[in-house]
Amino acid sequence: MSLNKQENLSVILNKPLDIVLENRPIPTLGKGDVLVNVKATGICGSDVHYWQHGAIGSFKVEKPMVLGHESAGIIAAVGEGVKNVKVGDRVTLEPGAGCRMCDYCKTGRYNLCPDMVFAATPPYDGTLCNYYRHPADFCYKLPENVSIEEGALIEPLSVGIHAARRGNIQSGHRVFIFGAGPVGLLCAAAAKAAGAGHVTIADLVPSRLAFAKTYYTDSQVLLERSTPGEPNIEFSRRMAQAILKTEEPADVVIDCSGAETCVQMSILLAKNGGCVILVGMGASVQSIPISEVSSREVDIRGIFRYSNTYPTAVRMISSGIVNVKPLITHSYPLKDAVKAFQHVKEGRDGAIKVQIIG
Ligand SMILES: [Zn+2]
Ligand SMILES: [Zn+2]
Repeated sequence: MSLNKQENLSVILNKPLDIVLENRPIPTLGKGDVLVNVKATGICGSDVHYWQHGAIGSFKVEKPMVLGHESAGIIAAVGEGVKNVKVGDRVTLEPGAGCRMCDYCKTGRYNLCPDMVFAATPPYDGTLCNYYRHPADFCYKLPENVSIEEGALIEPLSVGIHAARRGNIQSGHRVFIFGAGPVGLLCAAAAKAAGAGHVTIADLVPSRLAFAKTYYTDSQVLLERSTPGEPNIEFSRRMAQAILKTEEPADVVIDCSGAETCVQMSILLAKNGGCVILVGMGASVQSIPISEVSSREVDIRGIFRYSNTYPTAVRMISSGIVNVKPLITHSYPLKDAVKAFQHVKEGRDGAIKVQIIG
């Protein structure tokens, strides 16, 4: 294989608000690694957050970093000992690899590994480049009937699958979701795939709800903005009461917004003995109606990314249980990456998932 050393165009965040396209060297492969020619990458809210603010929680961008972590592509080269994939295979990339040595890795909860290497989480480079080096065991072959663009949606679908598993969603369950962005919609799809009998989704933006109406949800709730001066908990109680006029309390509530009022409402909308799953990342300290949690035995569970979801997600898409295609609303070539980021930030033209192609 002859790869021109100058042909690894990469989308690099130099510092907050400063994205540049630069050629980086094509990585050399170690034992068990593969080189992936990245063909499709979805832009995630976290990429936009790093671009705008340079940090998420304790993860700070301290040196230039390649962005992107929702990718699929074609195997361009394989390192020593690689058996599961070969050159030319179309694969989806699970962007985080654990150490494979600690208790968390060994017990299958590798998302909690303290030595996790995750694409586009500082200090590790992301996948928005022509050639990305990755451990072969975190690459999954795509069946013929799954496109590379669909393969790039397996990362956010994994969040939905992990949320459904953590919430122990059972057949017939009522599920209520806050946030009708890509992750909220994929939580709805995963909840339905797990057998949910009724999925409700809530958002502040009517156009998002109009889309959600066509995508794995049974009812849609338009949220109001809290009124200035009204304490959050009072607003949340008022809003939850209004919602409960038309919706029954839910077995599982999934918050994909991170907003304090939505976390509060999640607890208020869960039925006695129900479960609240926190997917969204908002303020690091929030107040919650804890007496509701105690007196009604509401379980609150955090989720951090996902583990062991990729093979499931590939089969869900291949079998038609989940259709991710309608979520891909816009695509841009790699050279127009900055325009693509701008598009996601503005959320205009009904953008749901914006992808960078080629
Ligand atoms: Zn993401
Ligand atoms: Zn580990």
